[in-house]
Amino acid sequence: MNQFQYSRPADASVAIKTLSKDQNAYFLAGGTNLIDMMKMGLVSPQKLVDINNLPLKTVSEIPGGLRIGALVSNTNLAEHPLIKQKYPLLSLAINAGASPQLRNMATLGGNMMQRTRCPYFFDLTMPCNKRVPGSGCSALGGYNRMHAIFGASDKCIAVNPSDMNVAMVALDATVHISGAKGSRTMKFADFHRLPGDHPELDNNLKKGELITAVDLPEPRFSKNVHYVKIRDRASYAFALVSAAVALEIENDTIKEARLAMGGVAHKPWRLTAVEMFLKGKPANEAVFKQAAQLVSNGAKAYEYNKFKLKMAPNAVLQGLKVASGLASA
Ligand code: SF4
Repeated sequence: MNQFQYSRPADASVAIKTLSKDQNAYFLAGGTNLIDMMKMGLVSPQKLVDINNLPLKTVSEIPGGLRIGALVSNTNLAEHPLIKQKYPLLSLAINAGASPQLRNMATLGGNMMQRTRCPYFFDLTMPCNKRVPGSGCSALGGYNRMHAIFGASDKCIAVNPSDMNVAMVALDATVHISGAKGSRTMKFADFHRLPGDHPELDNNLKKGELITAVDLPEPRFSKNVHYVKIRDRASYAFALVSAAVALEIENDTIKEARLAMGGVAHKPWRLTAVEMFLKGKPANEAVFKQAAQLVSNGAKAYEYNKFKLKMAPNAVLQGLKVASGLASA
């Protein structure tokens, strides 16, 4: 058994100081990913800094939007009346993820920090650049059915496993971060990284930095939204492909569109070119089919995930149809 120190500060500055000083210290929130990784021997922290006593558990209205504390549980976030009423896409995405028990424990910040579910990452007997930089990528020539079709590198083709993150990117959320050198904000879309030459890094947090909150901008997409998740079984499974769709429709014309995908890249994958195509067009099936044809532009599949090249546009098409009311969920 690996010994580790445990602390539960009530002050964020104390938690940040501990993480900043110690290379092998980890924040502990819901523990739904970290504890699993400790049990499997993927990580062996010397210090666990339990942040559950920090005052980061509220959802509050701010001028022009909503601020969500990093320790708000996934259940409380998905079921919050303001989220359901003003940001229903976020509720749909969160409730598509994990199981009720896990959503009760998992936090907003922890969901953002969860590691990939690439099976080779969890298999200590196999090379994995994300787990051991420079050791190689077993998925490149292996069973890569769950892996990326966008933005991968020859070092890593893993995907981000979160559903919530996909909706956050579609909704143009902003992340608040505190560290030893002060506080900063970052677009949610810039929080997660592509693998490049450093697949060991999932995101752009610096050592010791703590996610304190996420802001959602003024709600524009409270009506025409849908989250499509295609997976191997009906619940408690990670997405093969998912699509978050939010439309602002006025007089049958698409005023604005927000589209992002999960299960296809190392980060939530925003479909900006498809959004631009849709803007100003009539909300009908012919337009949606044309938009869907743009989805896989630039995609690159591997031996076992070629099906995603068709599944991705089909997921977006279904999302557009349901969000606009042309089809039912
Ligand atoms: Fe590791 Fe990434 Fe390759 Fe999976 S895809 S084996 S996480 S380097």
